[in-house]
Amino acid sequence: MEALFQKRKSESVLLDFTSEFKEKSIPLEVRTDLFTGCVSRILKFRNKLPESRPDNDAIEKSKSTCPFCPGHRDLFTPKFPPSIAPEGRIQFGNAVVLPNAFPYSRYCGVTLFSDEHFLSLDRFTPQMLHDAFQAGVMYIDRVKASDPEVKTASINWNYLMSAGGGLYHPHLQVVVNRQPSHFHQHLMDQSRAYGLESGKNYWQGLLAYEKKLQERYLFSEGKIEFLSVFSPKGMFGEVLALFTGMTSLTAIGDAEWAAFQNGLSRILRSFHRMNLNSLNMTLLLNLSPCEDFEIQARITPRMSMPPWGTSDVNYFEKGHNEIIVVLPPETLGEEIRNSG
Ligand SMILES: [Zn+2]
Repeated sequence: MEALFQKRKSESVLLDFTSEFKEKSIPLEVRTDLFTGCVSRILKFRNKLPESRPDNDAIEKSKSTCPFCPGHRDLFTPKFPPSIAPEGRIQFGNAVVLPNAFPYSRYCGVTLFSDEHFLSLDRFTPQMLHDAFQAGVMYIDRVKASDPEVKTASINWNYLMSAGGGLYHPHLQVVVNRQPSHFHQHLMDQSRAYGLESGKNYWQGLLAYEKKLQERYLFSEGKIEFLSVFSPKGMFGEVLALFTGMTSLTAIGDAEWAAFQNGLSRILRSFHRMNLNSLNMTLLLNLSPCEDFEIQARITPRMSMPPWGTSDVNYFEKGHNEIIVVLPPETLGEEIRNSG
């Protein structure tokens, strides 16, 4: 595993105006994960997260025009065609899936799972998440029944505007594909190549390595294992949830869903305590077994930084495909483990 995780250390020297222009060396570390292809620059000198909370006035003002609030949904959201859902919208418990009014894929659903217009990250209970994911799975099953060519799916979340969300009202996005997304395909290809070359499963190897190292390993819930990612895709790190031994959606039973929801709820509470109020989440699902690839979710905290609302995406990511990371993955790991 170590051969796939590369670290290159360097420094930048300047004359520091805060100490009479004495020479100061600032350490830098560039990490490359040769498996995922992710490159990140870890800046260890900036690891305090500023206090920031969503704007209560904006949340309150947005209620009157929110299409996802109870009473508005029937009037201002679309319905599925009968080939997918004769009843129009797919209900499970307190969750409902409806078509995305702005689809970016042939099969693109939106899952609403809260009657409340806004919830902070510490208020998403495992039961709410249960209904949300089960409703999403029902939608995936309906699409699969109507289109035998679909092969993969994902359940995604842009939570709040710093993470690309368009509305405050909590909603997941379910995408079902004939072709996997670029990154999903890359991970499957790499998993297969690793298996062919080594005769071993990459994900089992990664888990064993991280458990032994105890720097980025977080915790387990049943068969779901949570890790902080070595070379993350976000400025504040990235959490990987591995569904160990599960290679397709049908392999995830009730106990495994419950374990994932408990673990996810814990991660969200940890982010909240750390002043990380926004996130992207992607759960990658194969609809038929792909022996080398394990089902997995990736949860990336996001933030617009005060005082000016500075984006956490910058030229390094857009122009160079490298991520500036100000919260080292090991520190994120420690914070989550300690916040139990
Ligand atoms: Zn609302």
